[in-house]
Amino acid sequence: YKPLAEIDPEVKNIIDKETWRQFTGLELIASENLTSQAAMEANGSILTNKYSEGLPGARYYGGNEYIDELEVLCRKRALQAFNLDPAKWGVNVQPYSGSTANFAALTALIQPQDRLMGLGLPDGGHLTHGYYTAKKKMTASSIYFQSFPYGISPDSNLIDYDGLASQAKIFKPKLIICGASAYPRDWDYARLKQIAEKEGAYLMADIAHTSGLIAAGELNNAFDYCDVVTTTTHKTLRGPRAGLIFFRTDLENAKDLEKRVNEAVFPACQGGPHNNTIAAIATALLQVSQPSWRAYAKQVIANAKALGEALVAKGYKLQTNGTDNHLVLWDLRPIGLTGSKVEKVCDLMGITINKNAVSGDSSAQVPGGIRLGTSALTSRNMKEDDIRVVAEFLHRAVQLSLLLQKEAGTKLLKDFVRVATTPEEGKEGYSKV
Ligand code: PLP
Repeated sequence: YKPLAEIDPEVKNIIDKETWRQFTGLELIASENLTSQAAMEANGSILTNKYSEGLPGARYYGGNEYIDELEVLCRKRALQAFNLDPAKWGVNVQPYSGSTANFAALTALIQPQDRLMGLGLPDGGHLTHGYYTAKKKMTASSIYFQSFPYGISPDSNLIDYDGLASQAKIFKPKLIICGASAYPRDWDYARLKQIAEKEGAYLMADIAHTSGLIAAGELNNAFDYCDVVTTTTHKTLRGPRAGLIFFRTDLENAKDLEKRVNEAVFPACQGGPHNNTIAAIATALLQVSQPSWRAYAKQVIANAKALGEALVAKGYKLQTNGTDNHLVLWDLRPIGLTGSKVEKVCDLMGITINKNAVSGDSSAQVPGGIRLGTSALTSRNMKEDDIRVVAEFLHRAVQLSLLLQKEAGTKLLKDFVRVATTPEEGKEGYSKV
């Protein structure tokens, strides 16, 4: 055994710099979080050495006694974390990421070229929910299936359930997907179930963004109404980068659905499971099942609400005027800025955010808003008062962006904005903006 610093100082140095960036800056990307040291220890473990194609008790490789024990434990914890009855739900814990989990779920539920309906990307949906552009079918979910996106209502910016119901009546999809990457409000799963049932479609929820909050009972429960639920494990769930697929085992064709999901993951979409990741998921899920998790999830939401309120109090516009979950969508168009300009200024200030489309945006390349999330800052124990200070920093970033836009153009930003950009500079303290 030799440590990384000795074998590969170059990579070690990059990791050190990124560690410094993550912990000296303010992380506001809604899809990110700070995974616990324990989960990272499991993720970096010797389990990475093992091949285990197949499922517990039915592997294509020998030597899987302990890996079987691990995968069974991880499945048990996944059901426990979401309070699911093992007689009614099963779970596959092998997907490498949210995208592969979603494609495997589509593969399991419908046939190639069948119709699906997911929330459109410009309205907050994810690429894997059937995204395509006028020029190109961009994602496997639109290449291999016929995609008919639904949207948000232009007035309220809330999911247009009536519109979805009437479109579904025309398109007769085999699958309706709910869940989003940039939607600040909760979902009406009961209504969605009604629509799906009427058209004879499966209902799948991708709760990647909100799973940690749903597990805590702080948002509506997708499991009460959906046939299949997918999630990533690294956003509000605060685990390693991976995906999970939950499936009902009490439906008429339950055994068949279980088989289809498992075979869609392996061998249809993946090879050997990443056992080190499965161990880290198990550890993260253990943490989600503890009583302190509820307090964390409550605080994530309280912080997002406080952030939204502070920005509104400063006269800014938020999509849907606020939030029910961990994220806010800030519409910068009324003040004449683009999301990319503010993202650049924030980067130079050590605040990490991402540009995001807001309702009615004409260009996806130059969106008029930014998306802010509070999961990571809440993991650093920040409360509403801290978040109000963060809102003040964001206000300054926006004011500075406006000034620079007026005076100089963003190419000169580096001359105006002096911040530490390396750990060495950081030792001297942050310079002022
Ligand atoms: N589903 C949703 C709703 C997401 O927001 C994302 C990623 O941000 C994914 C799926 C994809 O997850 P991954 O990046 O792990 O493939």
